[in-house]
Formats: sequence, C-alpha cells, structure tokens
Amino acid sequence: RGTDAEPQIPFAQATSLTKVFAIASGKGGVGKSSVTANLAVALAEDGLRVGVVDADIYGFSIPRMLGVTRPPTKVDDMLLPPIAHGVKVVSIGMFVPAGQPVVWRGPMLHRALQQFLADVFWGDLDVLLLDLPPGTGDIAISVAQLLPGSQIVVVTTPQDAAAEVAERAGSVAVQTRQQVVGVVENMSWLDQPDGSRLEIFGSGGGRRVADRLSQLTGGDVPLLGQIPLDTRLREAGDAGTPVVLSDPDSPAAEALRDIARGL
Ligand code: ADP
Repeated sequence: RGTDAEPQIPFAQATSLTKVFAIASGKGGVGKSSVTANLAVALAEDGLRVGVVDADIYGFSIPRMLGVTRPPTKVDDMLLPPIAHGVKVVSIGMFVPAGQPVVWRGPMLHRALQQFLADVFWGDLDVLLLDLPPGTGDIAISVAQLLPGSQIVVVTTPQDAAAEVAERAGSVAVQTRQQVVGVVENMSWLDQPDGSRLEIFGSGGGRRVADRLSQLTGGDVPLLGQIPLDTRLREAGDAGTPVVLSDPDSPAAEALRDIARGL
C-alpha cells in the first residue's frame, strides 16, 4: 500500500497517510450518524482534509445531516464527491433511487464499499470517517479487509441494553484485529433549567463498554466523551448544518469538538 506502483487506486495511495475511523454501534438510533457528521465537520474546522463514507445502507442519513443535495460528478471513470461544510461525502444513499427500499446482500455491500474507496477521487485526505450500519454485520468484516489500518469508534447510549450490543459490535473489531480507539456515549443526560441533569437513559453505559473492550483487547479503550441530549443537535442535523457549526457554544457541540480533538 501507498507506493507509486499502484497509482490507479487513488485511495490505496491515500490510506498510508490517511487516518481511517469507522464509527460503529450495536443498534440503530443511538446517534452514530450524528456523531459521524459532527466529528467530520469539527475535524474540517480544525483544518484537516476530511472525507466521509456513509456505509449505513439501512439508514443512510449522512447526506441530509451534512446538507448534501447532489450526487457525485462523474469525470472519466472517477467520481468526484460533493463537498459539504468542507467535507467530501459519498453515501450509499446517492446511488439508490429515492423512495425505494434497499435490499442488500453481503457481497453487494462489500463491492459498494470497495467502489467507494477505489472509484471515488478523494485526493489527499488526513481523515476518512466511515459511518457503518448498526450491528455486527458483513460490512464490519469488509472494512477490516479493505481498510486493515482502520480504527473503530463505538457509539452507545448510557442504557444497559444499548451497551451490551455495543460491546458485541466492538468485539467484532477485536476479532478482526482492528484497533478500538474509544467509546462515545451519546444521549447521556438532559440539562434541566435548574442546572441539574436528567439521566433519561440511565448512566454508565459508555464507561462499561469502554472497560469491557479494554479487557477484551488487553489495552486501554478510553471513554472519549459524553454528549448530552440537545434539541439543537437534532434540529441542526435535520437542517443539514451540524450543531458544531450551527450552535458551536452548546454543550453538545463542545463535547463533540473535544472528542474530535481526542481522535
Ligand atoms: P444512528 O445513526 O445511530 O441511527 P442518528 O444519528 O440517526 O442515529 O440519530 C437518531 C436520531 O436521534 C436523529 O433524529 C438525531 O437527530 C437524534 N439524536 C442523536 N443524538 C442526539 C442528541 N444527543 N440529542 C438530541 N437528539 C439526538
């Protein structure tokens, strides 16, 4: 990888220099895509060259969250990714006719991911983020094969049930010998007008997943941060301008920026 001998695969050249983070979760709805979109723009704000691959076939939401409206442009045999808030974005959703259900089989997913890496002209990237589908499916194994240097970020909520499935998602990475770089706990609490915190989904899930994955890997898997529940985060995602840009002083945005800097 990374030699002049294989210039026909642009990403092969980039991988040696590009840090690749795959954002994983045990189940849907924990905020994995929101975290991915916000980390991407936070890293771009810090001056890094950032790309995002939305590989979440079941719930591709990255284009909406980043406000991407057009598909990649075809130039010769390459695809030029659209750029949103300074981030290059390719989503499986850009290749699916609107309103149609997606029924993917493992080999199709593998091929799609391969194409995203080989046929998209990323240029030089400092960081590539992959938004994985929830769970421990085929794509995690594909990522391990296609991007063996990628590191895994596990997103969970504080809830026991979410933490258990998040652990399982993280342990796949251990089996495929990928490094788990850390755990992000999302929806950790809701700030109350009186200054107290309402822990809607309980507490401790992120810490538990981090400790368990540390045990499994025999290394240190840190809890990278905790993100509060915040209406502004949801609204910002719906509007296509992530909260780290639309409301940079909000506690959720601050937590996300800190997590990005810790990667
Ligand atoms: P996933 O990718 O894990 O399925 P999403 O990022 O799509 O999850 O988030 C699911 C929903 O929850 C979205 O509507 C999103 O805006 C909302 N959401 C995620 N994190 C938060 C948060 N910290 N506060 C408020 N809403 C959130």
